[in-house]
Amino acid sequence: MPPAPAIRLRGAVKRYGPITAVAGLNLDVPTGTCVGLLGPNGAGKSTTMRLLTAQAIADEGEIEVLGRTLPGDSKAARAFMGVVPQQDNLDEALTVEQNLLVFTYLYRVARAERKPAIERALQLAKLTDRRASKVDELSGGMRRRLLIARALVHRPQLLLLDEPTVGLDPQVRQELWALIGALRAEGVSMLMSTHYIEEAARLADTVTIMAEGRAVAAGAPRELVTKHAGRDAVEVYGPPPRLAEVEAHAHARGWAVRRTGTSVSILGAEALDGDLPEGERRAANLEDVFVLLTGEEIE
Ligand code: ATP
Repeated sequence: MPPAPAIRLRGAVKRYGPITAVAGLNLDVPTGTCVGLLGPNGAGKSTTMRLLTAQAIADEGEIEVLGRTLPGDSKAARAFMGVVPQQDNLDEALTVEQNLLVFTYLYRVARAERKPAIERALQLAKLTDRRASKVDELSGGMRRRLLIARALVHRPQLLLLDEPTVGLDPQVRQELWALIGALRAEGVSMLMSTHYIEEAARLADTVTIMAEGRAVAAGAPRELVTKHAGRDAVEVYGPPPRLAEVEAHAHARGWAVRRTGTSVSILGAEALDGDLPEGERRAANLEDVFVLLTGEEIE
């Protein structure tokens, strides 16, 4: 029998009063893969994460994590799961090493394994030489690496990362991508919610795009691009009236089109002939798919 998927959601629903934050979500994280959860603000990504940690309880649907059914078996699932929260909740009064030690207790790491577990987490996060530093002396990037290291002390089979690089500068983001990439290579299953398309395109084996609490597309990034946006896009720049004209031209022909602040892109251009406007030809990308399916622009 194949191993149980790391995460399986079927028809998950979570309501907050009149708001349906998650509205019948299906989501799969096959064991040993990294899945990116993409969606505009309010799509339900954080609520989905909360369902997986049983911080929120679904009103309907099935949720399985590491072969355990939630919420009944959430405690057993949590023991094999690491969670990297969006909000930094490190203990500032403690050192790097002490923060990790606290979590070895919380996760009941056996006494003899505590030291090697901490060393391994420090090494993975490249924080070995900062072990004695107080958290409030660390840079933002180091703090984020420590948050990830802290989630790893009990060698989890599954890691949940909620917006792991939000608010970090591009250089620090690259460092974290390297760390997440290393964990992926080790075979840790991961679900990572993110606003950054590039993050998902680089790190995820498959992405699930969410809008209004549902999955609107799921698959390998390249496959999604080919399916929804084709191979080539023609991007036209110009003043707003010119862009409106190009958009109208494309709509009249039923072409898939995407507007950004300063340009209009006609998607699937390789299959279109005839009166394509003059523009820059470029490869279609995951951002095109995102905008097409969710109607939202992103940074
Ligand atoms: P963002 O990218 O902005 O973090 P998200 O995709 O994570 O958004 P959620 O935070 O899951 O989205 O929110 C989905 C919807 O549920 C939003 O309309 C939000 O206002 C609502 N919501 C989330 N948590 C609660 C709560 N505790 N009480 C009431 N409404 C909530």
